[in-house]
Amino acid sequence: MHVHAHPDDESSKGAASTAMYVDQGAEVHVVTCTGGERGSILNPRMDRPDVLENMTEVRRAEMDAAREILGITQHWLGFVDSGWPDGDPKPPLPEGCFGLVPVEEAAEALVRLIRQVRPHVVTTYDERGGYPHPDHVMCHRVSVAAFEAAGDPDAYPEAGQPWTPSKLYYHHSFNRPRMTAIHEAMLERGLESPWAERLASWEPEPEWDARITTRVPCADYFEVRDRALLAHATQIDPDGHWFAVPMELSQSVWPTEDFERVVDRTGAPLPEDDLFAGVTPDPGAASAQ
Ligand SMILES: [Zn+2]
Repeated sequence: MHVHAHPDDESSKGAASTAMYVDQGAEVHVVTCTGGERGSILNPRMDRPDVLENMTEVRRAEMDAAREILGITQHWLGFVDSGWPDGDPKPPLPEGCFGLVPVEEAAEALVRLIRQVRPHVVTTYDERGGYPHPDHVMCHRVSVAAFEAAGDPDAYPEAGQPWTPSKLYYHHSFNRPRMTAIHEAMLERGLESPWAERLASWEPEPEWDARITTRVPCADYFEVRDRALLAHATQIDPDGHWFAVPMELSQSVWPTEDFERVVDRTGAPLPEDDLFAGVTPDPGAASAQ
């Protein structure tokens, strides 16, 4: 079960490993905390009044298309996008948005889903949110709270039978070593690197990068990831930096998606190359297939 903040996050983070696990027969669920109502249009081709007026519907249709491409089951948690607070100082968050819901309250909906779906593995963002969007930071807090509470019979007793997932991961695919490797490979081939500006202001953080425990080889599925991402047409510019790196270059230079294992109840040794390492399928689920 991947817990994400907005529609499109499931396609930009961990999507290739998602497609691979689906192909291997895993049941992958994506929980989307908000409807992405306050997302900006990031693709000039989609920057039209008819799209802007119907942002919620448009983003739902985009999510439907991405869901089909990835082969996932997707759930809306029903919270409202906080939007990106633009300005200095940052404006207050809009009333009623996800970023302002108390964590214990927001976690109940996710606990209910975890108890219903009974995932072995849960992923979310690190404590910085991966990037500092208020909904991403909130997604982290809510996921961690719900992961802990789901197996506790005293927590949210109205929200279903307790279920204890085996592993919790944070996404780490936007790591500096990966961006540096891709950047250098682009320059070596005489290509323009989309990461030059970002890397110039990105201070090395070796301790942070060392938190990666799990690298999942999934290069064969980068193409599926790209298709899923393109399905979120309002959110991604096909001519932008996402697609500036040739497919075979990213496949050869950095063929993995990277994660940090934060909670483990399986005893699987580290480092790992599989989010399901050490997980034993429950007999009920196996016989039901
Ligand atoms: Zn997002």
